[in-house]
Amino acid sequence: PEKLLEIENLKTSFYTEAGEVQAVRGVGFSLKKGEVYGIVGESGSGKSVMAKSIISLIQPPGKIKEGSIRLRGENLLLKKEKDLQKIRGNEIAMISQDPMSALNPVVKIGKQLTEVIIRHRRVGKKEAKRIAAQLLRQVGISSPEERLEQYPHELSGGMKQRIMIAMAISCHPEVLIADEPTTALDVTIQAQILDLMRDLREKENMAILLITHDLGVVAQNCERVLVMYGGLIMEEGPVKDLFQNPKHPYTEGLLKSLPKRSDTGKERLIPIQGTPPDLLNPPKGCPFAGRCPYTMGICQEKMPPYFDAGEGRQTMCWLHDESREEGEVHE
Ligand code: SF4
Ligand code: MG
Repeated sequence: PEKLLEIENLKTSFYTEAGEVQAVRGVGFSLKKGEVYGIVGESGSGKSVMAKSIISLIQPPGKIKEGSIRLRGENLLLKKEKDLQKIRGNEIAMISQDPMSALNPVVKIGKQLTEVIIRHRRVGKKEAKRIAAQLLRQVGISSPEERLEQYPHELSGGMKQRIMIAMAISCHPEVLIADEPTTALDVTIQAQILDLMRDLREKENMAILLITHDLGVVAQNCERVLVMYGGLIMEEGPVKDLFQNPKHPYTEGLLKSLPKRSDTGKERLIPIQGTPPDLLNPPKGCPFAGRCPYTMGICQEKMPPYFDAGEGRQTMCWLHDESREEGEVHE
């Protein structure tokens, strides 16, 4: 399968009065056509900033410092805003955890949706309305004509999220970035929305970048996943491998913090102690050193490179430094 989206050495910072906040510190991965790729990490790990960088929605004082974002080989970072506007929606669309940030509260759903359709698809009003109703049906809304006449506040959270998805897919993007699309919803609705996204991926052959703090969501929806921490990728790989055999202590911690059924039938989970690193003054060594149960001397001193961890996987952790076990001294 071809590489649809390819990100290399992406660095995004925010230049605040206090100094440079290095939100994304050099990440790279690629997305294939039609795959669901997971990005997991705690809040503050840089996931959302990375997502916004991909779709060129970083606003000052934020700035993409370095790297490339290639869509079918073309570097989006070299494009003009006018061209990016065409790409946004048509080729890459995004849904966020807060649908209200994308919906105008004082404009009826139908008007908002048809405007997007008219702008991107160059059709008339009547045809746009027909497409809008059809889109709502496609995202599982049963009486679309009624809904189109409503205002956002008249709809439930799950319904608003469906409308958001309808808007996002209205121009058949090849890549859908879903940033915590279900976080604000209750568990049943969450499952429905995720079902809907899986369905769309199959019918529209859309690639989905699913961003979440929840490894459970990743397990059920993604083929591959990358684990982000402190603006960096800790490890990446097929979901099954990562779950069965995590190569990075942070991934291990995330897995332990997943709710499990114990013998007594009660849920238990072991949260990772401590807080993520301050990206205004990132640690010089491993970003996870302050919370990692395996921290060694070198971890505080030197940022680990990516080490080969076997089975074609790489991990940013000194534990996988083969030469370390041989007792070699590092400079
Ligand atoms: Fe833990 Fe050190 Fe590995 Fe970082 S490099 S994850 S601190 S063992
Ligand atoms: Mg976020």
